[in-house]
Amino acid sequence: MKAFFERFLNLNILALLIIGLSVFGLIRYIDYRFSNLEKMVNLSEKNLSIVDNQNKKDIKDVYDLVYNTQSNITDVLAKEKQNNLQLSDQFNQVADTVGVLKKLSTTDPELLKKYSKVYFLNEHYSPISLSEIGVDYRSEKSINYQIDSDVLPFLEKLIEAGNRDGVSLKAFSAYRSFITQLNLKTSYKVSYGAGANKFSADQGYSEHQLGTALDFTTLKTKGALEGFDKTIEYNWLLGNANKYGFIISYPSGNAYYKFEPWHWRFVGVALATKLHNENKYFYDEDQRVIDSYLVNLFDK
Ligand SMILES: [Zn+2]
Repeated sequence: MKAFFERFLNLNILALLIIGLSVFGLIRYIDYRFSNLEKMVNLSEKNLSIVDNQNKKDIKDVYDLVYNTQSNITDVLAKEKQNNLQLSDQFNQVADTVGVLKKLSTTDPELLKKYSKVYFLNEHYSPISLSEIGVDYRSEKSINYQIDSDVLPFLEKLIEAGNRDGVSLKAFSAYRSFITQLNLKTSYKVSYGAGANKFSADQGYSEHQLGTALDFTTLKTKGALEGFDKTIEYNWLLGNANKYGFIISYPSGNAYYKFEPWHWRFVGVALATKLHNENKYFYDEDQRVIDSYLVNLFDK
């Protein structure tokens, strides 16, 4: 019995040993498997991190690309806008130039030339368009009462302004053709002999052939030219004619021709006012300066 019992006990110890060993092995196995799993998980996480980083890098690259492209587009647009502005400027400049050229092409360049022994009009020259000065604006004795059509409204405004200020100006002689001027000179010669040039410019040198110059008179001198410099009309012209584009061609004490208080020439409001303000005379001004006023000759 005792032997059986001891045997049974030994068997149980053996069984316990086997079970213990099995449990230990199982635990070791599970531990091993878990450790592997953990490694795998770690590895996966690491891979995921690499993939993630790669993705982030790719996204950043794409973002940079989009950003750069956008910047480039903005730059291109800015440049294009600049180009358009420059183009617009150039277009406006061209349009201005075309406007100026168009104006110049319809404005007779002779109208602002200084007449002298070296520059004078061709005998065949005549103004583009002439109009009659109305009876209210001219002397009863006037024969040559045609004037450049573009100048006429300026002359009318001048005479009307004078009337409002209590002076009575009348146009006496305006446009004279080359032939008229020649005949006039001949008739003066008959009366005054060799001194005729003092009264009437040689034909061709006369501003009257232009159609933009005229001689004024007033009822107070009974329509005569002589004595005009003693009238209030002459003084009024000295102070106001420039506002209507007129200047005195041969002022008192000038170095180029005899004093003609009655003889006034249209050169446009801008140039007449400049000369007036600077106390300069037309024949003393540089021809290049004068030429620059041709484009706005008839501007109001
Ligand atoms: Zn004259």
